[in-house]
Amino acid sequence: MHTAKGRDISIYRYEQGAVDDWSENMEQALRLALRRGEFELFYQPKVCLRQRNILGMEALIRWRHPTQGLLSPQHFITAAESSGVIVPIGYWIIEQVCKDMQTLVDHGLFDVSIATNLSFRQLQDEPFCKALPRLLQEANVNLNCLEFELTETTMLTEPESALDTLNQVTALGVTISLDDFGTGYSSLAHIRQYPISTIKIDRSFTQRVSLDHEADSIVRSIINLAHDLNMQVVAEGVEDDTQLNFLLGNGCDQVQGYLFSEPRPMWEVLQLIDKILLP
Ligand code: C2E
Ligand code: CA
Ligand code: CA
Ligand code: CA
Repeated sequence: MHTAKGRDISIYRYEQGAVDDWSENMEQALRLALRRGEFELFYQPKVCLRQRNILGMEALIRWRHPTQGLLSPQHFITAAESSGVIVPIGYWIIEQVCKDMQTLVDHGLFDVSIATNLSFRQLQDEPFCKALPRLLQEANVNLNCLEFELTETTMLTEPESALDTLNQVTALGVTISLDDFGTGYSSLAHIRQYPISTIKIDRSFTQRVSLDHEADSIVRSIINLAHDLNMQVVAEGVEDDTQLNFLLGNGCDQVQGYLFSEPRPMWEVLQLIDKILLP
């Protein structure tokens, strides 16, 4: 009994040590990657169903790791958030997004907007919240073409003061989207205090339409609800024509997904603009 217990404890210590080691190394690795310029932004087009063209794109971070190759956020975003390194990475993202907005203008694309994801961790960081409106104003870009995507969880965990920041950037022309809608548990009443102009339907719903009656009614209800509240709707994760046709038939505004393009470097997405992407 005594030895068994002793062994348990030593195993526990060993595992704790390993976890701490790993997260410490990961934090160092992320900071180093940032200094070495190993992060890149890929872009995924959002296709407007009415105008049948790309009117916006979402910036999605990638890590070009020197030995592991191109890493998607699932491999590092949680570590970046829990360690707080997402804050310095987030400053870099905003800077890069502003440069890429200038690239769009240089290509004569004055109305194509860029959306970027904001983490709860960034909105909990007071210096970030204070700096954001000023950074955006100094960036010399058309802020009407910039969008922030926030999840319900982010909106619920952020401090009150973050709402101030979101109101300030909205006053500058930035729009706010509610990301992964349908996966949270919050009431829309609570979320209504945020200046949201777009709802993004989570891909777990998009991908069940036409297979599952419940998903059909959920997606239809989200679209109607959003429109009643004067919001736009984007469906994420559209992979096939059946899903597309359902969304077309039910008045969804924009679609995003592998059917049109995976997230790719900006120059590749530019080549898709004005191409025929819809039936
Ligand atoms: P998200 O914001 O919900 O982004 C959409 C994710 O769905 C992206 O994954 C995208 O590649 C993927 N996706 C798009 N279309 C399809 C499709 O048709 N089928 C399937 N199966 N997947 C599709 P990605 O790029 O791996 O990003 C994952 C998550 O990491 C994002 O989810 C977002 O929460 C986070 N993330 C990505 N970039 C950033 C960033 O710059 N900052 C922050 N804070 N988070 C980021
Ligand atoms: Ca997003
Ligand atoms: Ca999403
Ligand atoms: Ca997601």
